[in-house]
Amino acid sequence: MSLKDLSKNVKSELEPHFNSGSPSPKQTQGLDDIQKQVDEWVKQFNPPYWPALEQLARLTEETGEVARELNHLHGTKKKKSSEETKELSDELVDVIFTVICLANSHKINLDEAWKKMVDEKMNKRDVNRFEKKEDKKE
Ligand SMILES: [Mg+2]
Repeated sequence: MSLKDLSKNVKSELEPHFNSGSPSPKQTQGLDDIQKQVDEWVKQFNPPYWPALEQLARLTEETGEVARELNHLHGTKKKKSSEETKELSDELVDVIFTVICLANSHKINLDEAWKKMVDEKMNKRDVNRFEKKEDKKE
């Protein structure tokens, strides 16, 4: 089964969590949970994770699909009538799935990496980097 098929199956598992109105505490998934879910799922395949450079190629491919959807939504290049309708959300989740696979295969805990980024960048380095709304200025 290809990674594309894998991501479709993971998306179908996650859809109820995002399409059922307000999430209950049980429906909330942190990055740790998502990483574990992907890891458990890919372990049934050989190899569970593609080689790093193939994953990078896949990430580039998926990022291009996001670009294509954004260009269709906001750019001058509209879809041909023969082109399949795709959702931007589906393409974004494909990017996330691929990033999760890259992180998992490199034993990276994205929850810890996220917290580190928030602490170092959002709360310190970039705290005054961008123009703030009037009511948010310090
Ligand atoms: Mg895609």
